[in-house]
Amino acid sequence: MTLQSSLTIDLDAIAANWQALDRASVAGTETAAVLKADAYGCGASHVALRLAREGVRTFFTALPEEGKTLRRTLGDGPAIYVFAGYASGHRQCFAENALRPVLNTARQASAWLSDMPGASAALQLDTGMNRLGLEPDEFARLGPLPGCIDMVMSHLACADTPDHAQNARQLACFRELTAGLSARRSLAATGGILLGADYHFDLTRPGIGLYGGRPHAGSARVVRLDVPILQLRDVAPGETVGYGATWVADRPSRIATIAAGYADGLLRTASNRATAYHDATPLPFAGRVSMDLIGLDVTGCPEAAEGEMVEIIGPNQSIDKFADAAGTIGYEVLTSLGSRYARSYTGARSSR
Ligand SMILES: *Cc1c(COP(=O)(O)O)cnc(C)c1O
Repeated sequence: MTLQSSLTIDLDAIAANWQALDRASVAGTETAAVLKADAYGCGASHVALRLAREGVRTFFTALPEEGKTLRRTLGDGPAIYVFAGYASGHRQCFAENALRPVLNTARQASAWLSDMPGASAALQLDTGMNRLGLEPDEFARLGPLPGCIDMVMSHLACADTPDHAQNARQLACFRELTAGLSARRSLAATGGILLGADYHFDLTRPGIGLYGGRPHAGSARVVRLDVPILQLRDVAPGETVGYGATWVADRPSRIATIAAGYADGLLRTASNRATAYHDATPLPFAGRVSMDLIGLDVTGCPEAAEGEMVEIIGPNQSIDKFADAAGTIGYEVLTSLGSRYARSYTGARSSR
């Protein structure tokens, strides 16, 4: 009997998802991979090695330190871009690890050009999300694109809503700003790939679609999370479960207490709303999610026994289904997965 939850990450599923997104892109478009936030909680080193084996040549991270970790894992070959941009305080990290910043402001661009003359970088344009990147007039003031800028990119705000009018507006703006440039162009993340060929340009940047999340429908499940039952108890009508006594038994009930909580990324907003599974039998969350524990109503599941594992994420429940119950998105569920799980990887790694 174990007291520890187990998190299993299927590298074959990540590889299959990358292959599917690559096939979905028009010929001639390079499919990169976004591994920010420890590869969306899945483990950047494992994911990077497997994807390099699949043929991925360009990786994106959010921060320079993440880029450094990736460089150590991947060695010299692949290009590694850093979304956050560039600041002189990080010069050594960029130089020693051959990282390429995504330059988001004129100030970042001039710091890069003077600190690292001739070194490759990307430039981000804001086409309507108002998050990172140069505004069109700032871009115009920059003058001719320096030769070291090897990619010009932008990011879509509404790509997961195909009918949203902002998609076409951002596409038109990006086309206009980048017409005639010799640098490679990149606009699409996972959602943008699924919007179709117009959005693909030279390089796509999928993240969530690699890890089994919406909007990449039909993607292979990557994560499996199983949590052991620590204790079972009978609860009489009128008795309550958990902090705040928010769950009240309306019939003789059986409650299982399982060994994971909000400190493990099982968000407290899932209290009384989400479901775990014993084989295919649903076990509703009963009461508030505690830091390390959750109560489940197992009245309808006489087979549930102390020491057995119940599924939180797996064949019965995608990250998005759990996210829906918690009032959030699969991205947040994945990147919240805690560090206390016994982690294991299935599927082939880097060498055949
Ligand atoms: C996170 C991110 C991506 C990947 O987005 P997904 O929706 O996870 O595919 C691509 N580009 C930028 C700029 C990002 O911040």
